[in-house]
Formats: sequence, C-alpha cells, structure tokens
Amino acid sequence: MSILSNRAKHLKPSPTLAINAKAKAMTAQGIHVISFGAGEPDFDTPENIKRVAIKAIEEGFTKYTAAGGTDELKDAIIQKLQRDNHLTYKRSQILVSCGGKHSFYNLAQALFDRGEEVIVPAPYWVSYPPMVELAEATPVIVETQEINDFKITAGDLIRAMTPKTKAVIINSPSNPTGSAYTREDLGKIAEVALSKNIFVISDEIYEKILYDGFPFVSIASLGEEIKKRTIIVHGVAKTYAMTGWRIGFTAGPEEIISAMNNIQSQSTSNPTSISQKAAVEAFNGPQHEVDKMVSAFNERRNYIVDRLNSIKGISCYKPVGAFYVFPNFSSYYGRSYQGKKITHSSELAAFLLDVARVAVVPGIEFGADAFQRLSYATSMEAIKEGLNRIEEALKKLE
Ligand code: PLP
Repeated sequence: MSILSNRAKHLKPSPTLAINAKAKAMTAQGIHVISFGAGEPDFDTPENIKRVAIKAIEEGFTKYTAAGGTDELKDAIIQKLQRDNHLTYKRSQILVSCGGKHSFYNLAQALFDRGEEVIVPAPYWVSYPPMVELAEATPVIVETQEINDFKITAGDLIRAMTPKTKAVIINSPSNPTGSAYTREDLGKIAEVALSKNIFVISDEIYEKILYDGFPFVSIASLGEEIKKRTIIVHGVAKTYAMTGWRIGFTAGPEEIISAMNNIQSQSTSNPTSISQKAAVEAFNGPQHEVDKMVSAFNERRNYIVDRLNSIKGISCYKPVGAFYVFPNFSSYYGRSYQGKKITHSSELAAFLLDVARVAVVPGIEFGADAFQRLSYATSMEAIKEGLNRIEEALKKLE
C-alpha cells in the first residue's frame, strides 16, 4: 500500500505559484529578477476596506459565521449582481467561499462525477483541469484560435461534446489571454448549452478589469433558461486588490449551491469572518479606487503590447481585459543558447529566467505551448526594464 493517495500522487503544484517562488528565491540570493509572474494586482487593498476589517477585529467579529457566509455579505453580493448584471438571486443561491479558487473547487466537487466530461477551452486558467480531475471527471481541452480572439465558438463546442459532457467553462475576461466574450458570442454558446442540457460555469472574476469601454456580459443574464444552467464563479481578489483576504463567491441554482454548502460545511467551514466584513465594504463602498487601478492597468497594457510587438519574432494579441498579455514566442523555437536547443515554452521561460532574469509563465501551463504569459500587474518601470532584458536575451539565441 503506498503512502500517498492516487489523487495526491498525480497532482502537480500550481505552476504560477511555483514560478513566483523560484523568482523570489533568486531575489533572496541577491539576484535582481523582474517578475511578470504575478496573478495579483500590485496595488494595496483600498483604505476604506482595510478600515472596516480593523473595526471588525476591534468589535470582536472574530468568531465562526454561517458556513456559507454571512447574510450581510450574501445580500451585498445579491445587490451587486442586480446592480451590475441585472440578475436576481436569493440568499439560498449564493455561497461565499475562501477565494474564487475554492468556489470552483467546491463546485467541481458538487457537480462532477467519474466518467463525466467538462469542456475547458484552451488557453485556460491553470487550475481548471486539476480541479476537474480532483472531482474524478475528465477535462476535455478544446484549443481556441488566436484569430477568434482565443474564444471558443459554438461550432468548437458542438464538435467537442459527447453524451458524457456535463459542463463548459467560460472565463471572460480570460486569464491568460485577456480576451472577453461579447453578448453575441455568449448567445451562441448559450443556445448550444441549452440544446444539449449542459451547464455553463462562468468565471467572471475579471469582470471589472476591462478596457476601451468593452461591455461586460454575464451569460446568465441572457435569459431565465440559461440562468438556470449557469453557475457564476466570482470574487473580490482581482477587482479590489484583495488576493490575500480569500473571499470568492458562487451564484447559481439552489440545488447546486446547497450541495456546495454541505461540502464547505464539512471541510473549511466559513471564510474568514473579518474578510467577509471587508468584502461587504468592497461591494457597497465607493468604487473609485477600482477605476484608478483599471486606468493604470490600461496604460501598462497599451505600452506592453506595443513594445512586445516591436520585438523581432514576437506577436502579441491586444487584450481587452484582465492584466495579462499572452504573446506568441514560437518563432524562437528551434534556436539554441550555448548549444542547448529551445523547443518548448517551458524551456524558453527557463532561459528567460536564467539569462534575462525575467520571470514569465510558460504557455504550456495554460494549454498553449507557443506562448508565454506576462502579468502587467507590476510597475511601468519594471515592465520597461523587463522588456529590455527580454529583447537583449532573445538576441543571444542562435
Ligand atoms: N479564476 C481565474 C480565472 C483566476 O485567474 C483566479 C486567480 O488567479 C481565480 C479564479 C481565483 O482567484 P482567488 O481564489 O484568488 O479568488
């Protein structure tokens, strides 16, 4: 009998966290590494949110809450969904968890069984396939095309479906590509999902980080029928620079939310009481700090895309949302450094870390080996220096 479960043996650690850890270790050795690895805003949590949390501690709001979140926070989420997305939910249709990642995990545990298939458009957020597998279901990876802005089309979806298909994951705006779905795109996906009775998992965590007036649409808002088949995964981490506070939420059909609540009540119990208070303030308080962050991200996006496209051999799609770029570096594959050939995104990322001292995340981790993911949630100064280093390092490839 082996010590570890099969589940644990086959699970890889999160690659984005691993790259950040390596970059941090190099920094600790005195090497000046520029990191484009972060999946979190470089801004501080807004003051008003922090103050509410401090008050919560001082007032002794430091005990267990209801496992699925306080009514106060559920009501703030309900109001947010009504205000921003014209969606009406009841408290019994909302679950607050320890971050969007935990929301997705609970959902996968509640919804999927062995033998069922879940369609995951690639490039995908690194954690979807492992979390589907942890629920013993099978991720079915569907490659999207850059000419379709990396979005899955209704035709792609139909071709990937089998009688075992249980759900499709839509992440808009997307990590890692920064593309986002229009109302028209979503209408077509919804039509297919409804005709085949599958669920749509709509990861909307980057909802507020959109540029040039790109309108956000939740697929759940397209009609009562698709709303009944959609589970929204969301959270405060990205919008409010609250990655460390660990508050995510799910909105969806009561039966699914109730099952998720049971799972949560037997595993983590409630998300941190203090963070829940802070999240209420995030939703109900002033929103101007969000606008400021988005406008800073926009300035960096414009710079980084132009600069990347000016480097020989790189082509970069201009994202409409989130804070990542996903440039194609594949024209460098087949070249060598000190006699060592680079053929994959992971080798190129290792080369960039060793030679340019720049941390990026290889595209293979997102299911797209031609690319690298760079987060621009870092200062303009670091972005400029990092891109200079990348350009210089690439010249060394023969
Ligand atoms: N969904 C996507 C697409 C993400 O990129 C992330 C974080 O990187 C999450 C969900 C989860 O965020 P958190 O667990 O910090 O709320």
